[in-house]
Order: sequence, then C-alpha cells, then structure tokens
Amino acid sequence: MQIFHSIAELRSYLRSQRQEGKTIGFVPTMGALHEGHLSLIEASKAQNDLTVCSIFVNPIQFNNPDDLSRYPRTLDADCAMLAPAGCDVVFAPSAEEMYGPAQTSDRSSLSSDGSNPSVAYAKPILKFDFGELERVMEGQFRPGHFNGVGIVVSKLFNIVQPDRTYFGQKDLQQVAVVRRMMIDLGFQIELHPCPTLREADGLAMSSRNRNLTAEERPLASHIFKGLTLAKSLLLSGTPPSEVKQEINLHFGKEPAFRLEYFEIVNAYTLQPIDSQAPEDQTALCIAAYLGKVRLIDNLVF
Ligand code: AMP
Repeated sequence: MQIFHSIAELRSYLRSQRQEGKTIGFVPTMGALHEGHLSLIEASKAQNDLTVCSIFVNPIQFNNPDDLSRYPRTLDADCAMLAPAGCDVVFAPSAEEMYGPAQTSDRSSLSSDGSNPSVAYAKPILKFDFGELERVMEGQFRPGHFNGVGIVVSKLFNIVQPDRTYFGQKDLQQVAVVRRMMIDLGFQIELHPCPTLREADGLAMSSRNRNLTAEERPLASHIFKGLTLAKSLLLSGTPPSEVKQEINLHFGKEPAFRLEYFEIVNAYTLQPIDSQAPEDQTALCIAAYLGKVRLIDNLVF
C-alpha cells in the first residue's frame, strides 16, 4: 500500500496507473476508521483495479471548533487497517497541502486545523449553496457544513479523478448533496451509496463513537431503537406528526440524550413527508447529543 501526503506525487502516480488502463475506485474519509469504512473499501475493490482512500479531517466542514479539535486522528492505526483490507493507495494531506498556505496579508483567513494549531491554511472563498437540500437537518444545525463538504469532495474528485466513488448511506444528506453536486458540475464519476454497518446493539458505526464514555456507550443504542420504533409506527399507519411526538417521548425517557432533530423525509429530495400515504424511499433521520458527542443515524425504507 502506498501512502501519499503530496497532491503532486499522488497525481503523478495515478496518472501512470491510468495509462496502464487501470480503473480507480475512491473512498473519501476523515480517518479513525472502522468496519463501516472498510465495507466501502471492499465495495471499491470488487469493482475497480485500484482503490484510493483519502484520510483528511476537513477543517472547513466543522462549524464547531470543539468538535474539530476532539475529532480522533489515528493515521497509523488507519493504515494498519487499510493495508490488510487490500486498499492500494492512501492519500493523507495536511490542511495546508489541500488549501494552500495561509496568506499573511489576509489574517482573517488564517485557521488552525485543530490537531496542530501552528498549521494554518488558506480558507477557500468559493461558496456552494445546495438550496433546499441543505436548509434541513445537518445543513440547518451545522451552518456551512455542506459548503465545506462540497469544496473538499470536488477538490478530491479533481485530484484523484476516479471512475467510481463510494459513500455511506449513514450520511444520507451528504449522499444527496454530493449526488446533486456531481450532476451540476458534470463529474463523470459513478456514485455508489453503501449500506450502514452497525454494532451488535444497532448503534451505527461511527468515528465519533470512540468519544463516548463507558457509561454512555450502552445508552447509544437508544437511537436505533427510536428509528425502528418510528418505522414500525409509520408502517402500521400512524400519521407522521404522531410518530414525531412518539420519538420525542422516546428520547424524553433517556435524559442523557438531547434530541436535535427527528425528520421523516424523502431520501432524495430530503423534504418532509407529512402525509400518511406511503412514499418510496422514506428516510427517518435523527441527530442527537449523547453527552458531548453528536451522533446521527437514519433508516431508509
Ligand atoms: P467519515 O470518515 O465519517 O467522513 O466517513 C467516510 C465515509 O464512510 C462516508 O461516506 C460515510 O458515510 C461512511 N461511513 C461512516 N460510517 C459508516 C457506517 N457505519 N457504515 C457504512 N459507511 C459508513
């Protein structure tokens, strides 16, 4: 497995691979890898000659500096998981490599990457606006988040130029936003959304789970229980407004949680489903704080 920190070196290596006729699958991540990430690597390996995994904690998609500084960074352990999984290339750039060096003439654009406050980078001035897709849920509660996602993903697509890319349904809104961005910008890349991997108690695997305390961890399955409760209520004909009330009660019973949102939406448009009439691709989406850790999850049916 090859590890690159430099954009130029990665580009040059991938160019030579493409010239040999190899197809490239790409899995963008922020590291602190788990089995969920490895399932994306596996999906890419099954369809491509070469699999590239990027590991980059993208500072411009964090609207909360504490969340950024708490985000786990475990590059050596990540590489130790990726190599036996058959990943061919790891791309782990610094923020400065991705965005260029901070301009001293423009102090307001200086930002730390959280892991090393001495490392500054130039904040991009380009802004993505995903319209209705980002006025709800993550976009509503994390202002600027999808702008940061759009910039980093389009930049990574331009660097890697993959044939196929693999994203987890765990981040349902991210999939919808990236799908739309790829249409609007004309990326010739196949987007493959992949199912959410869960722990035995139903908790969706997430890098943030490792920030849960030993007391909090067993409580975390409350989220998946809420989603399955909501699904069965909807399927038995309960109106969406009543299902929402039930979910508020469900979280009210567990004071360690602070529910941020529970939404019943169309999985593609992300717009709320208000009627009882069953809709194809209904998505139930939750964000909740358990202690200091913000967890998201969803069920699509
Ligand atoms: P992250 O490192 O959290 O940015 O995630 C990188 C990719 O892995 C994203 O496409 C996520 O949706 C995906 N992912 C995260 N958790 C899971 C999971 N439990 N199952 C499947 N994919 C996941």
